[in-house]
Amino acid sequence: MESVVQPEIVERLRAAGCVFAEDEAAVLTEAAGDGPTLWELVRRRVEGEPLEQVVGYADFCGVRVRLHPGVFVPRLRSGLLVTLAAAHAEPRSPAAAAAHAEPRSTVLDLCCGSGALGLAVRHQVPSIALHAADADPAAVACARDNLGDGVHLSDLFAGLPGHLRGTVDVLLANVPYVATRHLPFLPAEARLHEPRTALDGGEDGLDLFRAVVAEAPAWLAPGGLLLSEVTEAQIPAAVDAVRAAGLRPAVHSDDDLDATVVTGASPRG
Ligand code: GLN
Repeated sequence: MESVVQPEIVERLRAAGCVFAEDEAAVLTEAAGDGPTLWELVRRRVEGEPLEQVVGYADFCGVRVRLHPGVFVPRLRSGLLVTLAAAHAEPRSPAAAAAHAEPRSTVLDLCCGSGALGLAVRHQVPSIALHAADADPAAVACARDNLGDGVHLSDLFAGLPGHLRGTVDVLLANVPYVATRHLPFLPAEARLHEPRTALDGGEDGLDLFRAVVAEAPAWLAPGGLLLSEVTEAQIPAAVDAVRAAGLRPAVHSDDDLDATVVTGASPRG
């Protein structure tokens, strides 16, 4: 049923600086259903909480992802990671897949936050065996809501089950990659409502990326692929780190999404 958006709500949102006030009013009205919750949701939005945290979901790459307050909001640009990851997780021939002649791919969504990336890849390639991990208990609870089993509370690889070693075909590592000195320039929604641990990548933004790359070869299956989003400025250093770990680097960009992804391929066995 179409909900009726009250002009008063549009005005409140516009006054608070929401550029897409009509759209946001419609989303809030729909999420609130009937009754007084609507004004509570509008109040939270007007005070600056990201829309997705207020309504409790984000639409990302064709899936609706549940989102808890204080959990990183999936970015549209990360659609590039999903496309590349799904392509690598795809069974190589549909006929073989139908006959279950090829083993399904194991995908690990590391630093998973809400689990949005893993959920979106599984939506595109339902046969995958999906694991996800995050060091933040709030993110783990949110990812369990989205993914069910297979979500681990783990500081990078430290808390992962040992049996995953050497088995990961697709290692999605959307690690925090904002250089510490750039944090003050992030939008207030990110600075105030997302955990700093989901954003801060250290001096040049690549601290966590380097830590992941160094350990990735031990967890990747032969022919497995590590994928991480980086900024354009980080490409040379990121490629060096991938090469130093013995993985074969490649860079992918999508201008429409304003996204850059560095990958590292593990040698085939
Ligand atoms: N602000 C960055 C973005 O919007 C945060 C990315 C990150 O650290 N994962 O893409």
